[in-house]
Amino acid sequence: MSGKLFIITAASGTGKTSLVKELLATTDNLTVSVSHTTRAPRPGESDGVHYHFTTVDAFKQMIDESAFLEYAQVFDNFYGTTCQAVERLLHDGVDVILEIDWQGALQVKEKFSDAVMIFILPPSRDALRSRLSGRGQDSDEVIEKRLAGSLTEMRQYDKFDYVVINDDFAEALADLQTIIKSHRLSRATQQVRNGKLIDALFV
Ligand code: 5GP
Repeated sequence: MSGKLFIITAASGTGKTSLVKELLATTDNLTVSVSHTTRAPRPGESDGVHYHFTTVDAFKQMIDESAFLEYAQVFDNFYGTTCQAVERLLHDGVDVILEIDWQGALQVKEKFSDAVMIFILPPSRDALRSRLSGRGQDSDEVIEKRLAGSLTEMRQYDKFDYVVINDDFAEALADLQTIIKSHRLSRATQQVRNGKLIDALFV
């Protein structure tokens, strides 16, 4: 296995999904794992692209079959990453982003101790609230519930390796690119990915 796992976690409304989208568009050999969820699709979301949308029964059956690398209940829904979604990619040397909540992040870290954990924070509570309301896809009740949950989620940032503040989008994107690049340049990764080149220097 030579691909690396990058876990990206943030409270809802922090701009994580847009950042990840741009990160993927600007970084080679990097992909995002498509999760399973029991929540209903939002307008514009399609099955197999944004999520694999599934029923609670089917999700529970997958839990029983140990299909998940990690899973968690977030708000009223289940979300999970299947082993299948990441193992082949890592095996093929592709770096994989897991856009998951903090509970799932800690489960992955237990199994993949070298997974890189990145937490994205908003610049302020006010900014978070206005981003949550501005999305316009959920009811007020859902937004209030998410806002309350956000603080709990954000308190978990101290368990992560890196913290990126998404105040300026371009700057936050550059921060994420830098984290990935620096890990790709680490000695351990270079020995795996450029092993032949390095060996040839010393024959
Ligand atoms: P949303 O419903 O807004 O797409 O996602 C809600 C939360 O679930 C976000 O914090 C998101 O990161 C998290 N999430 C999405 N997929 C997964 C997953 O596969 N596992 C876990 N643990 N959390 C996930």
